[in-house]
Amino acid sequence: MLFRKLALHWKILIGLALGIVFGFVASAAGWKEFTIDWVKPWGTIFIRMLKLIAVPLIFFSLVQGIGSLQNISKLSRMGLKTLALYVVSTVIAISVGLTIVNLIRPGSDFPEDKKEEFQKIYGSDADSKIEIAHSSDEGPLQFIVDIVPDNIIGAASNNINMLQVIFFAILFGIALVVLERSKVEVVHQFVSGVNDVIITMVKLIMQTAPYGVFALMGSLMVELAGDDPASSIQLLQSLGMYAMVVIMGLMFLVIFVYPILLSSFTKIKYLQFLKGIFPAQLLAFSTSSSAATLPVTMRQCENELGVSKEVSSFVLPVGATINMDGTSLYQAVAAVFIAIVFGYDLTLGQQLTIILTATLASIGSAAVPSAGIVMLVIVLESIGVPSSGIALIFAVDRPLDMLRTVVNVTGDSTIASIVAASENKLNPELVNQNKTEE
Ligand code: ASP
Repeated sequence: MLFRKLALHWKILIGLALGIVFGFVASAAGWKEFTIDWVKPWGTIFIRMLKLIAVPLIFFSLVQGIGSLQNISKLSRMGLKTLALYVVSTVIAISVGLTIVNLIRPGSDFPEDKKEEFQKIYGSDADSKIEIAHSSDEGPLQFIVDIVPDNIIGAASNNINMLQVIFFAILFGIALVVLERSKVEVVHQFVSGVNDVIITMVKLIMQTAPYGVFALMGSLMVELAGDDPASSIQLLQSLGMYAMVVIMGLMFLVIFVYPILLSSFTKIKYLQFLKGIFPAQLLAFSTSSSAATLPVTMRQCENELGVSKEVSSFVLPVGATINMDGTSLYQAVAAVFIAIVFGYDLTLGQQLTIILTATLASIGSAAVPSAGIVMLVIVLESIGVPSSGIALIFAVDRPLDMLRTVVNVTGDSTIASIVAASENKLNPELVNQNKTEE
């Protein structure tokens, strides 16, 4: 009874803890077969549901995101500046993530034989994907050719071709913006309605997350422990290291990157900035959703930082939809971590592909809890790593989601302040004015 009333993130953490306890008990008691037959399938079902929702989620959320950029032509200068800054900050975030994860290489001390076992357990269909990743060796431009689908149904029928779906969604979104609004109003409404439905589906799926996490963690530990229980501890250590790397990357953005950006382009003092947006950060942490936090982010930027309403009402909603520095950093780290644990050596080309796909994936992630891990499927598939690998990290995803959402909101507020300053629309005097207008 009490369990039902708890907030979802607590339930997930409890599922995680119980899964670990179960994993230890089951491997000590020799319940391997039972666990694989009766517990593991629930984890697999959970991961399948997440993968199931990825194609529709990315399609509709991208089309809606681009479609809502209507006023870009009106605000073309501010719009282009905003988009450019968003893309730059995302690429910086991914590069920070890639650098740290390559330096620390969490999961690399995993024994080779266990890595092979992992591949067997989770990467049954991995070979075909490696082939696909290698097929990009055909010619220098093959990777661009591969992004363009020749058949949208074919592209959508396979999670490997997610970039092709993104390509179609972007083209569709642009066409929607180009057309006169009144002609395509019904399409806008349809897309936004379906988007709501899909986001609700994600919420429903997430209700089962505590049980999914229990099953995933428990069976992962049992399968891995085999006759050597020490390796489950090793697995936990690797997961802990991975989480630390994500947190270090996120902190690097907040401690170094944002203050440098702010002090280069605005006169705002960083402490004043942090104090101003703190309520939004708190809300982001507790809801794991930058969309849910948006009204507070706007209010804080206007009232505490002096960003004009004109700027905040354009830059922040667009940012909540397409700018997710924390999410993109996390996706880069997670992709490399999973590749390491599966024993794949990523080439430079694959790491560059991560920059491209994690940028697109974070643009396509809806600003709701767990959207980032669903979109991780794309990043993994694009580098030929089996996407079932998300099972490995799901257990620790919720706390990381809370933290990356804080960074997503902080990034949006930073860019909003910079755009406002460059448009002469950042005025500390506005702080009081905005407050009195409220
Ligand atoms: N929860 C994140 C957000 O709303 C998205 C994600 O990374 O899952 O910003």
